[in-house]
Amino acid sequence: MREAPLPPGGTIGILGGGQLGRMLSTAASRLGLKTHIYSDENDAPAFDVAAKTTIGAYDDEAAIAGFARVVDIVTCEFENVPASTLEAAGRAAPVFPPPRAFAVAQDRLVEKEFISGLGIQVAPFAAVDDIASLKRAISLTKLPAILKTRRFGYDGKGQVLIREQSEAEASLQTIGDVPALLEGMVLFEREISVIVVRGKDGELRYYDAIENVHQGGILATSTVPASIPDDVAYAAREIAGRIANALSYVGVLCVEMFQCEGSSPNLVVNEMAPRVHNSGHWTLDACLVSQFENHIRAIAGWPLGETSRHSDAAMTNLIGDDVNSWPELAAAEGTGLHLYGKAEARPGRKMGHYTRIVPKR
Ligand code: AMP
Repeated sequence: MREAPLPPGGTIGILGGGQLGRMLSTAASRLGLKTHIYSDENDAPAFDVAAKTTIGAYDDEAAIAGFARVVDIVTCEFENVPASTLEAAGRAAPVFPPPRAFAVAQDRLVEKEFISGLGIQVAPFAAVDDIASLKRAISLTKLPAILKTRRFGYDGKGQVLIREQSEAEASLQTIGDVPALLEGMVLFEREISVIVVRGKDGELRYYDAIENVHQGGILATSTVPASIPDDVAYAAREIAGRIANALSYVGVLCVEMFQCEGSSPNLVVNEMAPRVHNSGHWTLDACLVSQFENHIRAIAGWPLGETSRHSDAAMTNLIGDDVNSWPELAAAEGTGLHLYGKAEARPGRKMGHYTRIVPKR
């Protein structure tokens, strides 16, 4: 039996109060839904646009349970939500995406094993716990290779490049002697991502494949269409759909991949994010229904919205002081400007983004 959708007036609880929560909240309001944001920050960017707010620690299970009791559905805008928090929330309200997706995405080793177990290509990898296992891992991946912490790595944090054997010992110290994995360096042509939304009934819809450029480990720009042939775009979608199906996923999922030279389509999955994603921000300006609204639609049991783009788009992040150019960007033609309401422009902090759109070619 198909579950009834959450009607307008219902409340979606969002764990996390950053810009993703802010944009999810705005999208929910377009459908007449309310949001209640739970964050550990006093001045979370999403608080400005939510019907209700709670400030609390993410591991305070009593506070999380109290929050979940007063909302209809719980979702998350960041992936490092503790498993016990998701369980506590799940005892009081349905939680989407499924907690298993978080368990997989939170641990790079589990993630690599899961994705390669689906027959999808990933970089050569091996678990690293100490210098002996690091040496064994190097003989498998060869050098150069990247040592990554298993947990809590994002935007290039918790990673170190190992070029030569002599750097091995120091690299373990650089990442803080925590459980890690070594990944062979992938020589890629370009980085792409696919944003897929999966409904409660298993329907899948895809946004067009996105071409991403990172600077210093942080996403700088996302461009659509990606300069890839149709068969590669099709294969990329199929990979994202296979991962979403295997997790019985509900909501928006992003899969980041490397496109490599060689017999086409040569795609290597880097990682997945069980949430709306920075590389999908252009959907706000170039699609009828954005990734944020489609996430809300999926978890609320609504029909999924159109994912086709009406315009070509190039999204640029405003990082740190970049945000000072807001007056010029606000005046620029064909440009959608999005500012996150963060008071302090610290280096590396995502302060906003803009998307330039042109009619679809
Ligand atoms: P990650 O935190 O895993 O998303 O890595 C951040 C960025 O580092 C990626 O977007 C790539 O640009 C680069 N990177 C990560 N892993 C690899 C790899 N195995 N080979 C080549 N580049 C990588």
